[in-house]
Amino acid sequence: MTRVAFLGLGDIGGRMARRVAAAGMDLTVWNRTAARAQRFMSDIASSASADRVRVASSAGEAVRGADTIISCLSTSADVESVLAGDPAVLRSLSRGAVWVDCTSGDPPTSRRLAATLAGHGVAYLDAPVSGGTTGAEQGTLTVMCGGELATLDRVRPVLATFGGKIVHCGPVGSGDAVKAVNNALLAVNLWSAAEGLAALRKAGVAPDVALDVINASSGRSNATMTLIPQRVLTRAFPRTFRLALLDKDVAIAAAFLREERVPAPITQLAAELMRMAHAALGEAADHVEAVQIVERWAGAEIA
Ligand code: NDP
Repeated sequence: MTRVAFLGLGDIGGRMARRVAAAGMDLTVWNRTAARAQRFMSDIASSASADRVRVASSAGEAVRGADTIISCLSTSADVESVLAGDPAVLRSLSRGAVWVDCTSGDPPTSRRLAATLAGHGVAYLDAPVSGGTTGAEQGTLTVMCGGELATLDRVRPVLATFGGKIVHCGPVGSGDAVKAVNNALLAVNLWSAAEGLAALRKAGVAPDVALDVINASSGRSNATMTLIPQRVLTRAFPRTFRLALLDKDVAIAAAFLREERVPAPITQLAAELMRMAHAALGEAADHVEAVQIVERWAGAEIA
């Protein structure tokens, strides 16, 4: 029986942990704010596998006896602080276990985490995910992994509970790097689509008409096909992925491109725009709400 510890029950982490629980694995969950873990437990209370799930009162308690540890926190620095903040965590790890960090993290910190854990006989994968909260609920996330292929193969059945596509990207840090580049593309596509649609609106072209054309043409993206029709045109702006996290991701991409000495004016500008939008809209805002800044500047609503 696989024994899984899941650390971090946020918007996406909680949904991923539910998939692990639903697969009938032996699961221990932990969340820094205990109320969130209690909510998780009451949400799954009526499910068939509820008796295999328990909540731990500390990260150290959660990882004890686990052969797979999954973390899904805001940043790599948060994962590092969990490891460094409580000596019981490293002490409680079983030699031979695998730590899978599903945080959208940064490559240098992932390499440090891998080295620290290797010193305790624990293998590490950076394994950020893509597909949003809906993908997590449906078990169709893309999981991009950095680390040894043999390590990935050991935890593949656990990742398959929430992942529909699991890709080995290369050595430790490469999952983080692919995720950061992906999310930089999301930011660029969302922002530039909003600029174009606002201008078209002012010129008298309705956004749904413009999107009808764009989505049958070469400028289409997930922003034009899904995010803007479902969240902007409807003015629903549901909060599923915080702008603060996208800001963090694009900053990771900008640092990664700089590190690789690739001139990257678009990515650097996107990082500045996300930082500015995050500062203007606050911690709770969803990433798609960044469109409202473009609308404000344009003096036109995309609706
Ligand atoms: P949330 O902001 O909803 O939750 C963050 C989680 O991290 C919470 O469980 C929080 O605990 C925990 N946390 C933050 N800092 C610390 C810390 N220092 N020590 C311990 N726990 C900490 O984030 P999401 O669940 O949305 O995202 C998690 C990761 O997944 C992020 O890296 C994000 O970029 C990525 N992601 C998110 C997607 C989405 O659609 N939401 C899509 C793809 C990737 P507490 O409850 O105590 O605050």
